[in-house]
Amino acid sequence: MEKMGRKKKIGVLTSGGDAPGMNAAIRGVTRTAIYNGLEVVGIRQGYQGLITSDFINLESSSVSDIIQRGGTILKTARCEEFRTPEGRAKAFNNLKQAQIDGVVVIGGDGSFTGARIFNEEYDLPFVGIPGTIDNDIYGTDYTIGYDTALNTVVQAVDKIRDTASAHNRMFFVEVMGAEAGFIALYSGIATGAEAIIIPETRGEARDLKAFIESGNIRKKSSNLIIVAEGDEEGGAFAIAEKVKCDFTNCDIRVSVLGHLQRGGSPTATDRVNASRLGHAAVEALLDDQKSVMVGIANDEIVLVPFRKAIKLHKDVDRNLVELAKILSL
Ligand code: ATP
Repeated sequence: MEKMGRKKKIGVLTSGGDAPGMNAAIRGVTRTAIYNGLEVVGIRQGYQGLITSDFINLESSSVSDIIQRGGTILKTARCEEFRTPEGRAKAFNNLKQAQIDGVVVIGGDGSFTGARIFNEEYDLPFVGIPGTIDNDIYGTDYTIGYDTALNTVVQAVDKIRDTASAHNRMFFVEVMGAEAGFIALYSGIATGAEAIIIPETRGEARDLKAFIESGNIRKKSSNLIIVAEGDEEGGAFAIAEKVKCDFTNCDIRVSVLGHLQRGGSPTATDRVNASRLGHAAVEALLDDQKSVMVGIANDEIVLVPFRKAIKLHKDVDRNLVELAKILSL
């Protein structure tokens, strides 16, 4: 059955924090739409571009040579005005004027919250693609950028391990994930970290002395402790300060990896999955879906209502938390 529906023109935007692989998703959306006879408009600067009509027509050639690039060719932004009914009214009028029938939003749960509210107010469908390095969106095993960020962290921590071993040092390495410990947990396992401090297991990190001792600190030539940023213990610097008091003969250093975790050429996994999700988002719009996120669960494309994706919490696998402890003996 042909899926043309009533739609003739769709928009695509990237919103919230950037993530490597967003360009592959933009390309997936653009080329799938063109394949289905639709026109495609790129909306620049996230929701800000909806309010200021910052629109560009996307042809097939507009998305050439971007699949391997980090960042987002459409730029991304945070937009306070879209949080107001007046801002969203402007956005609707601009979309109508440009004859745009549906919008693909690539972003995190904040972006999906905005899209959901817009879809409650206006009959102009928004479909989401999960794009955030934190991998913390419910209903999908995978979010765009996570795999690249994880691999970037692993490469950086391996380098830190070399110097830590050479000097018998203890390193606290702070990685991104203020509210979700996926990057910290997986990179910790992948680099053989002696301890991993993540928001999901806050209570366990409270007794720092016992926590560090459980990593057998004294037996090893180097100790790496991965800390998710913004943990209630106060991040890597604050934790290292406390540990210095308890272990006065330890040579302690702190490294905060920061924004380098967001950049770089996306991994093959991010490119392929972002392409699949871009394709799936256009299919969803052609199927008259609205207020849903396309995700990947058990390697299958799934549709998850924004309502669920936003509200429900995605937990880390507790078996992996245990595994990390066992393997750091
Ligand atoms: P990241 O996970 O990388 O932070 P995000 O999509 O969660 O990405 P946010 O900054 O939370 O990033 O949200 C992006 C934009 O979505 C906001 O700047 C705002 O324009 C819109 N938005 C967020 N929450 C709302 C809301 N409650 N109502 C309307 N718009 C919203």
